[in-house]
Formats: sequence, C-alpha cells, structure tokens
Amino acid sequence: MASKTTPMMQQYLEIKELYPDAFLFYRVGDFYELFFDDAVEAARLLELTLTSRNKNIEDSVPMCGVPYRAVWGYIDTLVEGGHKVALCDQVEDPKQAKGMVRREVTQVITPGTYQKEGKENNFIVSIVSKNKGYSLAYSDLMTGELKVTQLSDEEEVLNECSQLNTKEIVYHQTLPKTLISALEMRLSLTFSYQATLEHHQLDRLKQIDNAIMKEALNILLSYLESTQRKQLPHLKNAEIYEPRHFLKMDYYSKFNLELTQAIRTKKRQGTLLWVMDRTQTAMGARLLKQWLNHPLVSQEKIEHRLDCVASLLDSTNHLGRLSIIDRLKSVYDLERLVGKVAMLNINARELYQLKTTLEQLPPIVEELKVMDEVLWHPLVTKLHDLSYLVKMIDAAIDPDAPITITEGGIIKPGYDTTLDQYIEVMDNAKKWLLQLEAKEKEETGIKNLKIKYNKVFGYFIEMSKAAAQTVEEGRYERKQTLTNSERFVTEELKTLEKMILEAEEKRYDREYELFVEVRQAVAKETKALQEMATAIAEVDVLQSMATLSLEKNYVRPSFNTHQSLIIKEGRHPVVEEVLSRQEYVPNDIVMGEKDEILLITGPNMSGKSTYMRQLALTIIMAQMGCFVPAKEANLPVFDQIFTRIGASDDLVAGQSTFMVEMMEANHALRYATPQSLILFDELGRGTATYDGMALAQAIIEYLHNHIHAKTLFSTHYHELTLLDQSLKGLRNIHVGAEEQGDNLVFLHKMFEGPSDQSFGIQVARRADLPEPLLKRASYILEQLEETGHQNEMQLSHLNAIDVVDKVENKSQESLKKEPIVDKTTVNEEQLSLFEETPSVIVEKLKAVNVMNITPLEAMQLLSELQQEIYKA
Ligand code: ADP
Repeated sequence: MASKTTPMMQQYLEIKELYPDAFLFYRVGDFYELFFDDAVEAARLLELTLTSRNKNIEDSVPMCGVPYRAVWGYIDTLVEGGHKVALCDQVEDPKQAKGMVRREVTQVITPGTYQKEGKENNFIVSIVSKNKGYSLAYSDLMTGELKVTQLSDEEEVLNECSQLNTKEIVYHQTLPKTLISALEMRLSLTFSYQATLEHHQLDRLKQIDNAIMKEALNILLSYLESTQRKQLPHLKNAEIYEPRHFLKMDYYSKFNLELTQAIRTKKRQGTLLWVMDRTQTAMGARLLKQWLNHPLVSQEKIEHRLDCVASLLDSTNHLGRLSIIDRLKSVYDLERLVGKVAMLNINARELYQLKTTLEQLPPIVEELKVMDEVLWHPLVTKLHDLSYLVKMIDAAIDPDAPITITEGGIIKPGYDTTLDQYIEVMDNAKKWLLQLEAKEKEETGIKNLKIKYNKVFGYFIEMSKAAAQTVEEGRYERKQTLTNSERFVTEELKTLEKMILEAEEKRYDREYELFVEVRQAVAKETKALQEMATAIAEVDVLQSMATLSLEKNYVRPSFNTHQSLIIKEGRHPVVEEVLSRQEYVPNDIVMGEKDEILLITGPNMSGKSTYMRQLALTIIMAQMGCFVPAKEANLPVFDQIFTRIGASDDLVAGQSTFMVEMMEANHALRYATPQSLILFDELGRGTATYDGMALAQAIIEYLHNHIHAKTLFSTHYHELTLLDQSLKGLRNIHVGAEEQGDNLVFLHKMFEGPSDQSFGIQVARRADLPEPLLKRASYILEQLEETGHQNEMQLSHLNAIDVVDKVENKSQESLKKEPIVDKTTVNEEQLSLFEETPSVIVEKLKAVNVMNITPLEAMQLLSELQQEIYKA
C-alpha cells in the first residue's frame, strides 16, 4: 500500500492520525473529500455517493465528497447526530505552493461547540471529580458565558447536565466510569477526552481560588481552544454559581412537570415555556428558559423581579411598555453578534444589525427611567451609551451589503476617499466600455456586437458567427468560438480590462480593510456589549412576563415565612391554555401552617394530577418573579420540588414503573426539607394492591413524622383517607363527580373530605368499554365489597408496620384456609371472572330448591338452561 500512496494521501493520513474521532473533511479544489472509513460512514449518514480513488486497483480507497460551498449543511447533519468534524483547509495559495499545498485543520466542529442561530443555548460541559466531590464548568461558545460550580454527588451532576441540555461533556481521567455510563444512559451525549493542558487562561480564572473548579475550567478552556484553533477573547471571566441559590428540582421533576419539553412529543408545545414565552428576542427566549430552569429562592430577588413586572403593568406605563416591545422587535441577537465579532466571522450585514440593535437601546432606557428610575437603575446602568459605534457603522456599512466580506459592496460611498477613487475608476471604465462598444458597432456596422464579461475569459466583444465573417481581417483577436457566436478582444479592450480589474481588486482590498477597522472598533467594546446583551435580555424576559400576566389575567403572588399557602381560584397555566379559559374550572389550594399533607381522592381523569401540577407550576412561576394564574396567591418560598407523577417510566434506562416510582419517592424522602414541596401521584399503584397500599401508607406516615414538607398525595386507595384520624397534619380533599343515570360527570372541583367512591366502572363506561363487560364488573365489585370491606376498613387504622404484618398474616391465613384444589378448577374460576354471566341462567339456578325437585323437573330445567345458553 505504501508504495501506492501519493504525497497527497500521505498528507491526508498524517493529518487524520491527529483526529481519529472526527470526520476529516479534506479540502481538494472546490470539494471537501472524505476517505477510508470516514467516507463509508459519511456516505451512509449524508446519503452521498461512495466512489473510490485508484479505481480497479486492489486496495482502492473509498471516498466521497461535498462541494465546499455547501459544506455547512453536511456538517450540520453530522454534528446534530452527535459526531465531530475536523475541517482541513489549504492554508497557502495553491498557485504559490511549491509541491504539495500545505493543509491544516482550521476548526473542529463538535456537538458542544457548534454555533447555531436561535432560541437555544448550546452548552458544553466539563466535569472533574476529586475526593468524591465534583466540579462542573460550562460555557456557550457563542454567548461567551463561562460558569462553574461544585456538586456533591452523581445525582446532582446528572441533574445539572440534563438541565443544561448538554450534548457534549469534556472530561479527563478522574471521571468515574459509573458516572459516564449513567450520563450516557440518561442523555444522548458525546464524550470528549481532554488531557489537562498548560494553565494559559489564568487571568480568566482569577476570581476562582478553588483548585477543583479551576481544573474543570481549565480542561474546558483547553478543549475550546484546541477545537476552535483561535483566541476566544469574548469568553467572559469565569463565574461561580451555587445550585442552592435556586429552587432545586431534580431531573424527574422537571421532566414530569413538562417545563420545557413535553413528555410525549419531546416538543416545546404544551410546556410551561410554551405558554410563558412572550419574548421578542432570541436572547430573551434563552434567558427565559434559564430562569424557568432556575427559579429563585431569595425572596428579595423574587420581589425585585415582581416589582419590575408590576412596574411594566402599571396602567400609567401602558404606552411605555408597548413602545419597549416595539423597540425589542428590532433588537437582533446581540449576544451572538458580539461572539461573531470576537471570532472574526461576522459579515457586514450583521454589523449593520448590531447597529440597528444599538439604536433601540437609548429609547428603551428612557422609557424605563420614566417608569421608575430607582427600580430600573441596576439594568439601566448596564445599557451603555455606544452611540459613537452607531455613527461609525452607519457611516461605513452599506445596509444592503452582501454576505461575503471580500468581494466589495460593503462600504458606503463617501466614507473613504481612497475607496471612492477606485470606485470612480471603475465607474469611468464602465463608461469607456460603453463608448468602446458604440464605436465598434459604428465602425463595423454590426448591430448585434456587444461587450460582455465573464469570470473565466474577462471582457470580450461578442457577435454572431455570420456577423464575424464580415469583420475586416486583423481588426480583432479571436478569443473563443461558440456554436452561434464568436468572441474577440482588442488591445484597447485589454487595457481597459486591466484597469478595471486592478481597480476592482484594490477596491475589494480597501473595503475589507475598512470593514476590519470597524469590526475592531466593535471588538474593543466586547465587554460593554455583552453586558448590554444580558441587560436587554432581562428587560425582554420581564416584559414577556408582564405581557403574559396581563393577557392571562394573572395575579402578583405574595410570600410568607410561616409555611402557609393560599391560592384562590388557581388555574393550571398549560391546561387552561389548551382548554380555553371558559372550560377550565379554577380551584383553591389552601394549606395552613400546620397542614403538611393533602390526601386527594376522586375518580380517574377527574383532575387530581392537574391540581397537583398546578400547584408546582404556580410556585415555579412565582419564584421566577412572574405573576401567577390565580385570583390570589400567598406562598412560602420553597427550596425544592419533588414529584412522582405518572408516565415517566424510564424504560430506556431499563427501569420498571414500580422501580422508578420507588426511586423517585426515595429521592424525595432523602432530600426534602420542611421548606420543600412534594407531589406524589398515586404512589404505590405499580405493584399489587396490598403492598402498594402498605407502602403508600408508610410513606405518608414517614413524611408526616419526619419530613414535614408540604405534600400533595393523590391516591385511589380509599382506605388511606382514614389516616386523617391519626395524622394531625393530614387533610382529605376530593374531586367532585356526579352520577347522572349511568353517566358520570366530572366537576373538576375540589371539595373538603374524602371521596366516597372511586367511580372506576363509570370512568370505564366513558371510555366505551362493552356494556356486558361493565355489568360484569359492577357485579364483581359488589361481591368484593361485601367480602372485603370489613378487612380493608380495619387496615387503614393500623400503623404501617401493622399493615405489612396484617397483609402477610392475611395471605398466610388464607393459604391455610383455602383447600388445595385441582389447578384446572382454579383456572376455570379465574376465567369465569372475565366472562359475561348469563344472568337469566343464574337467576333460574338460584331459584331452584334442589331438595324439592324431581328428577324429571331437573331434566326439564337442564334443557331450559341449555336453550338459554344457545340463545346467548
Ligand atoms: P386524574 O389525575 O384525576 O386522573 P387529570 O388531572 O389527568 O386526572 O385530568 C384529566 C383531564 O381532566 C385533564 O386532561 C383535563 O383535560 C381535565 N381537567 C383536569 N382538571 C381540570 C379543571 N380544573 N378544569 C377543567 N378540566 C380539567
């Protein structure tokens, strides 16, 4: 093979060796080529045609390629799929190269460093583990955010990674394998190994004096530099954040509550974020999502945000708010524009967008000052006055500039005299061209003679073949012959062409030079611009919350420090949106200081789980600093929310429903405090009735006696409702339902006290199960109630241990009592439970007094019964 390797392949192989885990896109002419396994795999993933170099040779090399102009579309597909791409370019002009053109990898694009426009952050995370603790650092390369924190266990790392929606994790040897596999199981991730490099980012880490945090930042920064292969001046100084400064919600809870992603569709629609988002800018949308994932726990900070929302909603500020919204509509993604300036990939059109954005800010500042100068002061001071940049960009940049920055058309005439001279030469030359064309037409008498231009041949005189025959010998120099026309040049035209092309080249160079000057001026203000971007994003989120509150008639929540909770006429923000306001039945949620557990009973589908989620969402919104869907809300500030609400079976991770239930319950029991909120929806239903009920009761008692968190516990075990007699902090409430004939009407309204029945069969009727089956179920229920009622009523009076004992004893006793029977008999009995009972036959049989019947009458009866059966 070596003997057949060309110098180019040799170069390819040397470079590829440095990037074994990336698709190497190797620039050849107008294409990026892929070879060997990269080619085979990429052809499959990108639907490209696989060809081969050295066709017909035994060891031919598989290859495929993409046109360089279209390369980003392909990179997009690969990176979105979790792959990495190393872009290998020619780094010297092929015309000037002696021998092989030098090629180098100019950028490695990875899932965590890929920069896409839009409403989502793309965070890349690094994790370091030491002495059983963890440090996690993250960054968004585009916005320049750089943060770091310390976490105490794997669960916290998992939560943080899933909440950051991490696609890529950078690590080095200290990261435990168990954590890597737990992360892999839960999130779809790319792992990138990074050996710790020299500490060359020290000034950016100067505020950090914790060694493990420094290490996490260091491997992250090293990785970013090695993939981007350039300085990243816009990365902010590292900032420490503390998860305990935010309302804590674990992975399951966020998932269950559908804050930013719907469980079923995985989409944004149907989530709290979907309802809440009234932002006007991409920065605002990203910040809203961050606030939603991190509600606050400091009442002071929450009240400050609420004050801002209230100020925007004050009727005297109505026009001011509308004018701010209007201005925000013209605000572009400043965060990303600044990132692009720093990374030198901004174009003229985007510089102009930056100017338009800056123009919007002073009027917004004025409006905010008029509303409440003191309240808005912290934000207003971050909205710096950069009007000199506005003037500079406005004077220099052409608003209709093309996307390329090397082909002119980006600087306005009048901005630079040198440039204007080149433009004048070009304009004049064009005039001369027209004059030349007219002269040639006249002298030759050829009407279809034209002076034209193309990139390959430059300027030429074109005429039809027939006309060309009439031109005097020696007048023109032939350049090209086409089917119907001839193309010529003259000395005069060549001189003109030279002048035009020279002026053009100079013009392009000068324009680029001027563009770079403006770009550098903007880059100098990176810090100020980043601060402005953060502040304007905040204004946008606050106006979004105000707009939403006004539109949906939300109310400002107030807070108390004595753990009591009153929500009057509360609504579920998302269900309400889907159902429309008229259909939604508002509900109160009231828990006094001493109330710890609300035990909720009621039919399936009546609204228990909606009621519980409603509380959690209301709290999250309140602690974000938003008004809430209710008529009145007075709340404690919660520190954590735990949920166990159906349908989150982690089947992918190989966990059964019951196991997930118990894991989530365990999580709450271990970490909840008296300031926490726990929502348990039908806990225990994933196993058999008795042990499910026993566990549910034991958990309630444990919560009541040891945790003291505010808990909403819905259950279909009616037996548990008697616990209010033994547990002082437990109150029963139920969802009302009314039977109207055979039909059941859900009121979706909560009432005090336990529900008197579960209406399971009526709910099944609503689901249109076959009528005979429903009759049969009613019959079985009656039987069960007659035989089982006594035992069950006693159960709930007992403490948890007794329940378990009782259950065990019961099963042992019943084992003792029950005769050992032939298996087929048991099966028949079991089967009969599911068959329709021919009630006429039963009735007839019941009516027979066997002692008083003659053999003939018995025969007669048998025959009648048989006929009944055939009829059925
Ligand atoms: P459960 O938990 O009792 O089985 P859900 O909370 O899942 O019931 O509610 C079932 C459906 O009932 C919801 O999808 C919603 O359409 C409707 N619903 C629930 N609460 C209300 C309400 N307060 N007003 C109107 N409809 C409601």
